[in-house]
Amino acid sequence: MLDRYLKGFQTINRILTALSSSTNIEDLYGIILSALVSPHGLNFSRSFLFVYDPKFDTFSGSLALGPSTEKESREFREDMEAEERALNRFLVYQENRLDLSQINLWDSCISDLRISGLWINMVQKFGLESALTKSIQRLTFSERGKRREEKYFHAICEKDCPVLQKKNDDLIPIPSVIAKIMDEEFIAVPICSKTQRFAVVLVDRRFANKRLGQEDLRHLQWFSNQASLVLENAVLYNNLQAAYRDLKELDTIKSNFLSTVSHELRTPLTTIYGFSGLLAEGKVGEITEKQQNLLHRVNMNAAHLINLVNDIIEVAEIQVHGIGDVNITEIDPLPVIMTAISHVQERKDNKIVDIEPVIDEEVPHILAEEHALERIIYHLLDNAVKFSKDQGKIRIKFSQEEGELRISVEDEGIGIDHENLSRIFDSFYQVDNHLNRPFDGLGLGLSITRLLLAATGGKIQAESMPGKGSTFTILYPVFT
Ligand code: ADP
Repeated sequence: MLDRYLKGFQTINRILTALSSSTNIEDLYGIILSALVSPHGLNFSRSFLFVYDPKFDTFSGSLALGPSTEKESREFREDMEAEERALNRFLVYQENRLDLSQINLWDSCISDLRISGLWINMVQKFGLESALTKSIQRLTFSERGKRREEKYFHAICEKDCPVLQKKNDDLIPIPSVIAKIMDEEFIAVPICSKTQRFAVVLVDRRFANKRLGQEDLRHLQWFSNQASLVLENAVLYNNLQAAYRDLKELDTIKSNFLSTVSHELRTPLTTIYGFSGLLAEGKVGEITEKQQNLLHRVNMNAAHLINLVNDIIEVAEIQVHGIGDVNITEIDPLPVIMTAISHVQERKDNKIVDIEPVIDEEVPHILAEEHALERIIYHLLDNAVKFSKDQGKIRIKFSQEEGELRISVEDEGIGIDHENLSRIFDSFYQVDNHLNRPFDGLGLGLSITRLLLAATGGKIQAESMPGKGSTFTILYPVFT
């Protein structure tokens, strides 16, 4: 009795392991057919797969597994037994090398995993090109068909449980082509979830001296529940993967588009910026003070637009091509930071903000990429200035912790609430994105910062108190 239970458990375990070993729908159908005919599985003689096509509302013959003659039946079983003997030899070999306490668990894991491989092998050897497969591959059954026979598989699905069929059954009459292929009695198993039809599988015991009965129906009911669950998950997984691929593709198209448009904009903008500067400085001819004021504003706005366009180009190019050859070397961060400060000061418009590096002790050299570090500090300072009040103070502080240099950019500006703090690194995300927001920018600076840090071995932390200010800290390994 116990032995029978144990065998039952083993079969269940093997079937479940095999069903969960793939997310590929074709492989799963192969495993389903094999599990039905294998002596390690449900031990029917033959299994036939009719797959549902939701587009045309049809069932079509797809794959069959099992012998078509007495002789083939013997070969089929012998082959399976030979495989099992090989498997056992392998397990004995493993046993000799293993700690005794682990043997049972290890045995069954290896054997169940090997069974999945063995089953897929069986499909390739006995299923793909077999006469049985060929005999069903031309068959299609449609709900819209005129004759009742054509609606056979739909009727089986309506039943929602395995149906034992005998020739001359008049409850659900068997189509003559199916009757010709199948044994005197067979079971039709619908594989459907609550929301989806997948397939109908037919099984029989041809060439075996055993009738089909209630126990088989119970086993098949369990099996069809498991199979439909696994297929439903696989379909979901595949749909998700396809959606992810589409999104990635769209994202690349978007980045390419942004990059192309921005490149096109940059050239004329640079011309406007250059010429308006020359005109404003009176280098092309004398101008009145009013004209100078207006030209100065044109020049400032052109500079601002160039900055935005540069941000778009930078983020789009990193997203599509990565940041190219990253040259991580020993660098002294101070001169790089000073260059970034001077760039920010060049464009801090009319706001009076004090930017001050606080250097209490020697700042160590770090392992980083010079250009990336300059861009990162530039973006952090640019934000600190933008979100500070007039006369605000910005401090750049340094500290060392566990082999890393921490460079903090602290401001006393408007701050960011807790909820938004985790989202500000996303592209185009801005805390206040109303059209009338008083701050310029596109929501790209921090996204560029994060991409550059990830590519050059750095990290970033953000802390903030609304109304009090924000601190952005970047961390790079100290050069030793
Ligand atoms: P933007 O170009 O809009 O500044 P960022 O990616 O650099 O884009 O920043 C995203 C958003 O994060 C900003 O729009 C702002 O809402 C918030 N933010 C970034 N830095 C600060 C800061 N120092 N103080 C307050 N808010 C900030």
